[in-house]
Amino acid sequence: MAKILVAGGAGYIGSHTTHYLLNQGHDCVVVDNLVTGYRHNVEPSRLRQIDIQDTPALSDLFAAEKFDAVLHFAASIAVGESTKIPQKYFRNNTGGSFSLIDAMLDSGVNKIVFSSTAAVYGTPAKTPITEDMPFQAESPYGESKVMVEKALQWNAQFAGLNSVCLRYFNACGAEPKANRGEEHIPETHLIPLVLRAATGVGKPVTVFGTDYPTRDGSCERDYIHVMDLASAHALALQHLLDGGSSRQFNCGTGEGFTVLEVIKAVEEATGKKVPHSIGPRRDGDPSTLVADSTRIRTELGWKSTRSALADIVRDALEFEPIRLQRAS
Ligand code: UDP
Repeated sequence: MAKILVAGGAGYIGSHTTHYLLNQGHDCVVVDNLVTGYRHNVEPSRLRQIDIQDTPALSDLFAAEKFDAVLHFAASIAVGESTKIPQKYFRNNTGGSFSLIDAMLDSGVNKIVFSSTAAVYGTPAKTPITEDMPFQAESPYGESKVMVEKALQWNAQFAGLNSVCLRYFNACGAEPKANRGEEHIPETHLIPLVLRAATGVGKPVTVFGTDYPTRDGSCERDYIHVMDLASAHALALQHLLDGGSSRQFNCGTGEGFTVLEVIKAVEEATGKKVPHSIGPRRDGDPSTLVADSTRIRTELGWKSTRSALADIVRDALEFEPIRLQRAS
């Protein structure tokens, strides 16, 4: 079993993946600045409160602990915000990753699984999206990840640093039995907002546009359960530990659901109507983002086991009381 540094392990996807890796028997040390991550997501003995932009602090940690690999989740994630404060994204996401890569190279750790995004593709020329489609980011957020992916490719070629870039589609769901779920502040993601509207703890939902070329006019997305994403990380890690070379993989199920279909699924799960209205399109939203996930299925043997929309909604709903209690 391996010793893993998990950067951003107190956040949403990082904390679910850490939970998954610990259950597999790996040893994890979490590095997080706790700006958007939560102390309650990490056992105290595993947490090091360090900002990944602090290269000397990272180097000290690498010198003190003998890591086999790094999983890197630490990032700012709001596409909309990135169009207002681009430099926050280049500093935190690109600069932070470069700092982490520097510390890895200095200490001879040469395996990293990097959290990338479907936003690297921008508006794709065809759907479903395959990994060989070009980088066409349409936001500073997407570009901040493209820059890291490119640096990782060059470092693989010339510095012996092996990486797996996982391009997430729409992460969602929760692991309520481990007290983990989505706790973004502010929450901007569709599924938690629809759940809160249904249960009366949130405002009515605005559907951002119903004039897209989809089944019902609303945007179509590929929703992947956060624990299916965690298993993708575990497989990517194993690929590197087994001596595998650098790869890029889409992380999605291959099946898309529209905004109106998500609302219907929540109505079925809760037995309640979701108060909603139709609004204008949101800037930067492509009509359809659905992954071709053939590569990760065939090369890593990944399977989606929890990403049926009804299961995602049920798990997110079950986490709601835990979230509400913490927020109160
Ligand atoms: N969406 C919406 N109303 C909301 C939030 C999101 O209609 O209040 C739509 C959004 O336009 C997109 C989909 O829901 O088509 C998923 O959005 P989310 O912000 O959850 O993830 P993204 O696709 O931006 O990563």
